[in-house]
Amino acid sequence: MALAKVLVVDDVAHMREVVADYVLRPNGYAVLMAENGEQALEIAQRDRPDLIISDIKMPGLSGLDLLRAVHRDRPGLPVILITAEGSEVIAQQALRAGAADYFIKPFDPDELLQSVERALRRSGAAAPASAPSFPQAPALTPETCLHVLTVMDDAVLLLDHTDRVIWQNTVAAALNLASETGAVTSPDLAALLARRLDRGEIVLDDGRSLEAHLTLLHDGGRVAVLRDVSVLKRLELAKSDFVASIAHNLRTPLTTILGYIGLLERAGPLNAAQAEHIRRARAAVDEMSSMLDELLNLKQLESGHTAQYAVVDISQLVTQVVEAFRPQAAAKSISLTNAAASDLPPVFGHPTRLRHMLSNLVENAIKYTPNNGAVSVVTYAQGEFILVQISDSGIGITPADQPYLFDELFRPEAVHGTYGGLRLGLFLVKRIVDEHNGRIWVESRLHEGSRFTVMLPVMRAKT
Ligand code: ADP
Repeated sequence: MALAKVLVVDDVAHMREVVADYVLRPNGYAVLMAENGEQALEIAQRDRPDLIISDIKMPGLSGLDLLRAVHRDRPGLPVILITAEGSEVIAQQALRAGAADYFIKPFDPDELLQSVERALRRSGAAAPASAPSFPQAPALTPETCLHVLTVMDDAVLLLDHTDRVIWQNTVAAALNLASETGAVTSPDLAALLARRLDRGEIVLDDGRSLEAHLTLLHDGGRVAVLRDVSVLKRLELAKSDFVASIAHNLRTPLTTILGYIGLLERAGPLNAAQAEHIRRARAAVDEMSSMLDELLNLKQLESGHTAQYAVVDISQLVTQVVEAFRPQAAAKSISLTNAAASDLPPVFGHPTRLRHMLSNLVENAIKYTPNNGAVSVVTYAQGEFILVQISDSGIGITPADQPYLFDELFRPEAVHGTYGGLRLGLFLVKRIVDEHNGRIWVESRLHEGSRFTVMLPVMRAKT
C-alpha cells in the first residue's frame, strides 16, 4: 500500500521540520513541504497529498484561502490548520470553512498525530503504509492477511459501495448480521451505514453490545470492525446503577432535613440571624438535591443507544428548551430570545440527548449571566449543517480556560465557590455532540459574554 502523503505548509522552515520530523516521518507518513500557500496549491494539484497541515498566517495566500482553494477541486481532502497563539477567532472560522481540525501554537505533537490519523480515517485515505515493518519480517502475503482477518477475535465485515456485505470473517458470520445475499439485517448496523457514521453501537437480539468502527475505502466500500463490549457495558451499568442508587437514597435524608428546617420556622419567631442561617441551610440542601438530579440524569443518558435515534426538528426542540427556561430567566430579569430560520432540514439523532445538550447550554447561559443580562438562541442552516448558537452577556471565560471547558469535572478557578453544579454539564454536552458527529466550540470574552455554537450534520437522504 502506498504511504499516506501529508503536505506541510508553513513559511517558517523550523515549524515545517518540527511537524515533519517529530510527528509525521517517525510514524510512517511521506512528507511534502511548501513554504507558502501558492506553492502548496501547486503541489496539492500535482502530487495529490492525502492530507494538508497548514499554518494560517502566511504572506500571500493564507491557510484559510488555501483550504478553500483545495476544497474547490477536492472537497473531501482533510486540511488541519495551525494558528498563532491568541487567534482563536480565526480558528473558529477555519472549522466553519471545513477544516478537519485546528491547533493553536504551541501544540502537542501527539495530539497533532492523533488528529492526522483521525482525519485520514474519516476521509478514507490510507493510514501510514503499515506501521514501519520490522526488518526481519517476511513480506506480508495476501494469504497471511486473509488468515489474520479470519482468525481475529473481532468481527470483520467488508461491504461494497451499496452497503452489501461481500466478505466476513468467522466471528462476524456467527453474529448473523447479514442475509445470505449479503443484505445487512441488523437494524443498528444498517442505521450506522445509512448515516455514514464511522463509529457506533450495535445491540444484538440476545442483548450483547458491539462497538462498531467503520472505515471508508477508496472504492466507496467500507470495512466494519465490531468488538464485543458486553462485559464492559455490564460493568459500566453496575457502576452507574450504584451511583444512581446512592443518589436516590440520599434524597430521603435530604427531605428529612428540609422537613425539620420547615418545622424550625413554624416553631416560633426567629431572629434575623437564625432566619439567615435557615435560608443558607435550605440553599445548601437545594444545591445538593440538584446535584443528585444531575447524577440521576447522567444515569438516564448513559442508558440510551443509537437504536433510539429519530428524525428531529432541531428548531422545535430549541423552542421547547427555551420555553422551559423562561421562568429561570425571568427570575433574574434576563431577556431570553429565540430565533430560528424557517424550513430547517431535520437532524437524525437521539431526541432526549439532544434536548439534554441544548438544555445544559441554555441553563449555563442563564446561570453565568448576572441579573438584567441577555441570552439569545439562534438556529440556522449552513451547508450540510444546522448551527445552534447560544449567546449570553455573562461573566465570560478566559482564553486560558477555554480549551479545557469540555473536560470532565473542569471548572475555571475564578468560578469556584460562587456557582453550584457538578461540572459534568459541558462534558456531557460535548459527548452528545460527538455522538451525533457534530462539533461544538465557544467564543468568549471575560466580563462580556460567551457564545457556544453547536454544529450538527443534517440528515442525509439515503443513497
Ligand atoms: P457546571 O455549570 O456544573 O459547573 P458545566 O460543565 O456546565 O458545569 O460548565 C463548566 C464550567 O464552564 C462552569 O463551571 C463555568 O465556569 C463555565 N461555563 C459554562 N458555561 C458558561 C457560560 N455560558 N458563561 C461563562 N462560563 C461558563
